[in-house]
Amino acid sequence: MIKRSHTCYVCKKTFTNASYWYDSLHDTKHDKRIIRPFCGPPCANRYREISDVNDYPSRKPLPNGPEWQVIGDIDYIEYETD
Ligand SMILES: [Zn+2]
Repeated sequence: MIKRSHTCYVCKKTFTNASYWYDSLHDTKHDKRIIRPFCGPPCANRYREISDVNDYPSRKPLPNGPEWQVIGDIDYIEYETD
């Protein structure tokens, strides 16, 4: 498998080896799976300040289906971002 690169949602930098990302699995803002990668802790923290996603309730119970599998690593998968 080919390791992919990511574009940081906050600063738009291209990077590899993602450790931080937003996943729409966890809140009810989006009705589809959206991944927003962050290049590191500063951008992940900044995202919490600039985004309204924490204003949305958690998704409970978690949805079922192939598009809602738990994602532990985004370096080797295709994902939809925005
Ligand atoms: Zn960044």
